Amino acid sequence: MSIEISRLIEAQFLAHAKTCYPHECCGFITGSQADSALSKASYYLPCHNILTEKNRRFLIDPLQYQSAEDRADEEGLAIISIVHSHPDHGHDPSEFDRSHAWPGLSYIIISILKGQVNSYRSWQLREDHSQFDAEDILIKDES
Ligand SMILES: [Zn+2]
Repeated sequence: MSIEISRLIEAQFLAHAKTCYPHECCGFITGSQADSALSKASYYLPCHNILTEKNRRFLIDPLQYQSAEDRADEEGLAIISIVHSHPDHGHDPSEFDRSHAWPGLSYIIISILKGQVNSYRSWQLREDHSQFDAEDILIKDES
């Protein structure tokens, strides 16, 4: 699997992750499935992290998820990715991430060290929920 995003979306979620530091940020990417191996992003939607221990883990408000999904539906799109940051940690998914993820979505994790973007990576959960596999992020330059 691969996910294609624009430079703008990349800039938006990286800026969001920096703004939230030292807390975790989270957000959605809405888009569509181009074919069985590629999803294409349309836009980034920041959302609020509702857990109080925000630098440890994140939990998306179900109402925000619902409204993002409804908006995507109306536009003939779908939520294709959930983005969150790991303040002062690497971009690998945690055990908490694995137990709260669903197959079929791209999980983009941004590593933020001392307030600066270190790296980021996109992951897909296996159907049997056993582990994540890294996937390619294709950056599309807007013309
Ligand atoms: Zn995480």
